[in-house]
Amino acid sequence: MKTVDFIIVGQGIAGSVLSLILQKRGYTVMVIDNVPQSSASLIAAGIYNPIVFKRLVKSWRVDDLVPFAENFYVEMEKLFESNFLEKKKIIKIFAEQQEVDFWNKKASEMDLLNYLNPTSNESKPNVKSPFGSASVNKAGVLDVANFIQCTREHLSKSNAFLHDQFDFNSLHISEQGVTYKTIKAEKIIFCEGYKVLKNPFFSWLPFKLAKGEVLTISATDLNVTDIVNKGVFILPLSNNTYKVGATYEWKDLSEINSEKARVDLTEKLNRIITVPYEIISQEAGIRPAVIDRRPILGFHPIEKRVGVFNGMGTKGVMIAPLMADIFVNYIKDGKVLDTEISVERFYTFHKKIRQNKLGLKT
Ligand SMILES: Cc1cc2nc3c(=O)[nH]c(=O)nc-3n(C[C@H](O)[C@H](O)[C@H](O)COP(=O)(O)OP(=O)(O)OC[C@H]3O[C@@H](n4cnc5c(N)ncnc54)[C@H](O)[C@@H]3O)c2cc1C
Repeated sequence: MKTVDFIIVGQGIAGSVLSLILQKRGYTVMVIDNVPQSSASLIAAGIYNPIVFKRLVKSWRVDDLVPFAENFYVEMEKLFESNFLEKKKIIKIFAEQQEVDFWNKKASEMDLLNYLNPTSNESKPNVKSPFGSASVNKAGVLDVANFIQCTREHLSKSNAFLHDQFDFNSLHISEQGVTYKTIKAEKIIFCEGYKVLKNPFFSWLPFKLAKGEVLTISATDLNVTDIVNKGVFILPLSNNTYKVGATYEWKDLSEINSEKARVDLTEKLNRIITVPYEIISQEAGIRPAVIDRRPILGFHPIEKRVGVFNGMGTKGVMIAPLMADIFVNYIKDGKVLDTEISVERFYTFHKKIRQNKLGLKT
């Protein structure tokens, strides 16, 4: 039997970041993942954008989230002796004059001064921008696949990673702790992304999953170095390749590529760039978004040794580090979790379902 403080199930962005922060605070972990060919984290573009473009407002808690996330990833780059974080501007291409006027108005607001740069009429080579463009500061991109791979290697070195399809029948919970196969722990925390809906402890949580698809294209003459956004983003990768995305779909929640997404993305791309390109690949994933668009942290209402760290939605890269830190503070020092992010805000959902099952009136 191996004994650790925490079993973590799932090693996407959420499970990776949580296990690293737990280790930083002196806890021992065993991370279990089935190592999928694709997951939301593995296909994510990895962009963090402090601005909600539709309304030109700051994204939720961005003043705290971005610096915390950047410091965390830089620290991990040093630990792993690798590079996965790149600070990069996002260039917003305007579609009409109204957007330019709105940007100018918002860019002068005190709250947004550090984020929105002035508009420019300068045309961008190979990009259609008749109404000009402007850029966003404090943005960037994480090479998520590399970060996850480095984390897995780091965990494996200390025998803290298990490649396994988690089997709920092998989990035993008692007053002394939890055991899973040959692992004994104080607690178990599930970070399964959208697969949480198959989790018998947390399937009652109100997720509103959103499928997303991205293309990888090769465009030898594009020469774009910043992230470009106009309805879709174009993210420069290496060797004249670019990621283009992403779609949002709430009905078809399969992880299968769709013709609809391919058409949608290429139509939008054709409206932005002026040079030829070739589609190299297409990928689909499911974002673990919650009805109130906030992450979910905490422990099960009855099984207090069973936790959840999920709900990263569309912004796992930016949200996960600070949320994991808050969760570990809660575990370590009992610091109260804000209702806005605590799983407790949904305890009534669990109560109702349980009462219905027992045939009791709610
Ligand atoms: C097309 C697309 C583009 C995106 N772009 C961005 C972006 O640019 N920036 C950004 O911040 N976010 C982006 N996102 C969102 C981002 O992907 C999510 O916020 C994030 O990946 C969620 O991470 P997670 O760890 O919660 O879930 P996941 O990445 O789904 O990880 C869960 C892990 O748990 C494992 N697992 C689940 N169940 C089991 C089990 N029973 N046994 C063993 N292992 C299990 C899975 O295999 C997986 O490895 C994008 C998402 C999509 C779909």
